Formats: sequence, structure tokens, C-alpha cells
Amino acid sequence: MANGAGLHLHEYALLSVDWLVKNATYLPNCYICLTPTKGIRFRYFSKNHYQKRLANCSEWILLEQYRKQIQNVTEFDNSLFRNLTLVTENPEEAYQSQNIIWKRFADIFAAASSLISYAPVFKTYFYEALKEFYHDNVQYIEIRAILEPAYELDGTLHDKDWCIVAYQEVAKQFKNDNPDFVGVKVIFSVQRKINNSKMKTEIQEAMKLYKKFPETVAGFDMVGQEDAGNPLWYFKNELLIPAEMGIKLPYFFHAGETDWEGMSVDENILDALLLNTSRIGHGYSINKHLMAKQLSKKLDVPLEVCPISNQVLMLVSNLQNHPAAALMAEGHPMVISADDPAIFGSRGLSYDFYEAFMGIGGLKAELTTLKQLALNSIKYSAMSAQMQAETIKLWLKKWDQFLDVVLNMFNNDEL
Ligand SMILES: [Zn+2]
Repeated sequence: MANGAGLHLHEYALLSVDWLVKNATYLPNCYICLTPTKGIRFRYFSKNHYQKRLANCSEWILLEQYRKQIQNVTEFDNSLFRNLTLVTENPEEAYQSQNIIWKRFADIFAAASSLISYAPVFKTYFYEALKEFYHDNVQYIEIRAILEPAYELDGTLHDKDWCIVAYQEVAKQFKNDNPDFVGVKVIFSVQRKINNSKMKTEIQEAMKLYKKFPETVAGFDMVGQEDAGNPLWYFKNELLIPAEMGIKLPYFFHAGETDWEGMSVDENILDALLLNTSRIGHGYSINKHLMAKQLSKKLDVPLEVCPISNQVLMLVSNLQNHPAAALMAEGHPMVISADDPAIFGSRGLSYDFYEAFMGIGGLKAELTTLKQLALNSIKYSAMSAQMQAETIKLWLKKWDQFLDVVLNMFNNDEL
């Protein structure tokens, strides 16, 4: 299907993990170590720049050498794959609570980022990720990015500006190679566990980058487990800095990614709206706050619904019970996205569209449902009006091709 745009995605979980295992870990100078909680971390460095072991971790092991010593390399590579995704044969047994799965989820992010932050991997990874989305008929993406320092073999670190420029260059290259791909924007993100003074510095940096890279930086968000982090209200003084200074910094807050009610976490939705958020990441608990629901509809602030993410992270088991089912029936503004497809073992946006169509849309969901959702993803993106118009033009072509395929299938069936 012509999926349109992916608006809720995270930088280290874009591309199938196969690529990381089969390519990134096979590069020269790739070392691995084991954490006390059976996690893994990677690091690339040249012999002259050997770095001391990470706190509490095992010695660094050179993967090239290690693979020569072991008998079953395939099994070892499979174990890396298992360490970089949440995929498991028996999820109910392995992940018995939201806190357990979130811990593992955060650990996987740390493992993946230790590979992807190596500057040469960083760029290739992103190019390959764009390829995977493009092959899934996605024309444009917005990624939440923490912009951790990327590093070189000799230990040189690159700052956030470097990361933005790298994203820009790779996206430009990809667009040159595939002219019907529209582009990429980055939502500057910080961990919601940080303290007020760190938040102040981050907001200032975000304002600086938003001004410096207006084509690429779309705005600001906070990431990490919402139940375990600080609520938006906790950062009210820092989050109001741009408005008080008369500087624009659009917000794209994750809010209400919880099944609780009456906690600061579900109330984040109200604060997100008060802080003028452009979209609501998840907004899973919005049904419990009539005022927020009405406001988001009235102000046309869409929810970014990520069905597989909500299912894997244990907010809902049967997607027919997902709050978005009722909201979709009411015509509430929403887009469908994939959050962290690599870690959930999915790919691009199609898996989430499938789940939204089959589980959330109800029996009467049809082509018009898919069409509306795809168009929403363009409409609610941070693209300029002109860019949106161009994207819709390109999208319509792809949509028509998709309809041809569908109609052909039915015609053949009739024969
Ligand atoms: Zn997210």
C-alpha cells in the first residue's frame, strides 16, 4: 500500500536488526562486551586507541577473532539478533510486567545505539533504513532523535550538529537516488528522566538547532518510559522558555502512553495540549480525559497511534480493545506509525497499518479508511504546505498503482 509518511519513529530502531548483525558487527575493529544483566554493548576502536572496559562489563572481545574461535557462528549471530530485539518464542513468560519489558527495551536501545553511534555505521544505517521504508512505500519520515555523540575509531566524538548534518546529507543522497522519496525531519528528543537544569540546557540547544536547521529539525519531544519518568508539568518552567522568549519551537510530546488513570502520566495529555503540542505521541489514555479528547479534536491535534508498540509493551493485548478503535469510529484525528519496528521485529509501516486495519478499524474498515490514514500522515506532518502538496501528488500516483493491484486481484478471482 502507499503508506504515506511515518511520523512516530525512533532513531536507533528504524532498520531490521538483521542488517546490524550481518553488516555492522562484521566490520573490522568491532568489539563486544557483556553487561551484568546479560545485555551486550559494542564499540569500535583501533588498537592504538583501545578503550578501557565499561563499568561492570566484561573485557572487550574482538568479534572478528571471536568468530574464528567458535564453532557455530550462525548460532552466535542468532544470539546477537535475540539481544537486539524483543522477539521471543514465549513473550508471556519472558515479559511478565510492563516494567520488566521496558527495562529490556531500554537495554536493547543502549546496545543498538552503541553500534549505530559509530560514525560510519551511523550514516550507512540511516541510508539502509530509508531504503527499507521506501520499499515499504513510505515517502517521508520524522524521527525522534536523542542525537548522542557519534564516535570515530580514534575516539573522536561528534556533536549534535554533526548528527543533524549527517541525517541531512544521507537524506539528500537518498532523494537523489530515489526522486519520489520526499525527505526526513528530526524531532530533537531528550530522556524524560533528566533534571530541570539539564532540561534547560537541552531546550536551549533545541531552539538553537531548530533555528540553524529549519529544513531538518521539526521540534522537540521527551522519550523513555513515561510511567517511570518525569511528567511534563515537572518541566513547565523549562518548556515555557521558548514561548517566553518569543521563539518558535514546535512540540511533539509523547503523552499518556499508559493504562493508568489519575496519575501525572495520563494527565500529561492535558499538559501536552496546554503546551501547544502539534501532535500527541500515543495518547493511549486520552479516552479517560474528556476535556483532552474534545480539545485535541477541536484543535485538530492528532494522536500518533502505534498499534504494535502498544501491544508489545503490554498496554493492550487484543487490538479490538485499543482506545483508538472508538476514536477512529468517532473520526478523531490520528495517524498510524511504527514507533520502533526494528525492536518489535516488524518492518516499515505496513505491519502497523495491517494491525490498525484488522484490529482497530473494525469489520467495516475499507480502502477509504486506509486512504484517510495515509493522507492524515502527510497532512499532520511537519512538512511545509508546499512540500505537503508535492507529497500528496506523488502519493496519489502510488495509491493509484496500489488500487490497480487490488482491482486486478479481484478481477482474477472472478475469473
Ligand atoms: Zn515513541
